[in-house]
Amino acid sequence: MDKNLSLYKNVWVFAEQRQGKITPVVIELLGEGRKLADEIGVELCAILLGKDVKGMAEEVISYGAEKVYVADSELLENFTTDAYTKVITDAINEIKPEIMLLGATHIGRDLAPRISSRVNTGLTADCTKLEIDPEDKKIKQTRPAFGGNIMATIICPNNRPQMSTVRPGVMDKAVKDVTRKGEIISLNVRLTVADIRTKVMEVVKSKKEMISLTDANIIISGGLGLGKAEGFEMLSKLADKLGGVVGASRAAVDAGWIDHSHQVGQTGTTVKPNLYIACGISGAIQHLAGMQSSDLIIAINKNSTAPIFDVADCGIVGDIYDVIPMLTEELNNV
Ligand code: FAD
Repeated sequence: MDKNLSLYKNVWVFAEQRQGKITPVVIELLGEGRKLADEIGVELCAILLGKDVKGMAEEVISYGAEKVYVADSELLENFTTDAYTKVITDAINEIKPEIMLLGATHIGRDLAPRISSRVNTGLTADCTKLEIDPEDKKIKQTRPAFGGNIMATIICPNNRPQMSTVRPGVMDKAVKDVTRKGEIISLNVRLTVADIRTKVMEVVKSKKEMISLTDANIIISGGLGLGKAEGFEMLSKLADKLGGVVGASRAAVDAGWIDHSHQVGQTGTTVKPNLYIACGISGAIQHLAGMQSSDLIIAINKNSTAPIFDVADCGIVGDIYDVIPMLTEELNNV
């Protein structure tokens, strides 16, 4: 990091892409980045890595980036931590952005701490609010701490860039305008095969279940109380029996047990089914925000004081691994 902080300019967004598609959080980052850039009076830029990504660079411009730095190389075709970290670190050291935003996606969470460590700056992970301090123009980064019980506002006083990962689904999206003009700048990719310690053998597309939580009449949702990804298989069996779909709490999604498309709540989907069965979900306010208008709520939790029971029409105090198989078995006999 250069000690002369005034050399650092502009807001950068990491334009994460997968298999030729910009990830949705990038559009949110460009929306938020635009506000920050305007408040400081600087440019909104993006950095895009991959192979043959020019079309995507134009898309990023249509969402408001004034400059897109593009690293195009066969070695960047698939995401690898080593390659992406090196290229972005080189670009930051060379061009010196003042603010760098990444989505708190699997890739963003993997990359951001490595990059911040290499460029010797701070990182605020999982931000839900970003604002510019009107006095010193530094970015105030807010994120939930202690399990969401307090909101911590963090600044990065003496290092640059000020880096944040931003939680998907929280910020407003940028509006697309294909008439926008911007500059595409090619980066000099200094990367060799020897820099990359992992090799992508095969890319397997996820067999994502086509679910529509919003249209479902019956939702069986699982939370951290399931304890493992396999618990969702048990819920799936029950959902199949009842003709419903599987939902999840954010904690279960964050644990990597189920895809984000199943998440119910403030930063997931808001649902109003005829029947909502909450299994091993504590009933945090952000979860309740997405399901408490359901017609009939059944909660299964081994803690009788769990807040989910406050909104439940019917509560079962017990272990999900006892209750759900019993319920499924009963339905088999119907
Ligand atoms: P926990 O709170 O850990 O609860 C697990 C529950 O399982 C406990 O009540 C425990 O008693 C019970 N349990 C454990 N083992 C068993 C067992 N064997 N049998 C029965 N019960 C068991 N959360 C969401 O869900 N959706 C959102 O959209 C969302 N958005 C958020 C947005 C923001 C800005 C923030 C700050 C937070 C958000 N959260 C959201 C997170 C939310 O605050 C909670 O952290 C989350 O909902 C907790 O998930 P959980 O209930 O699965 O886990």
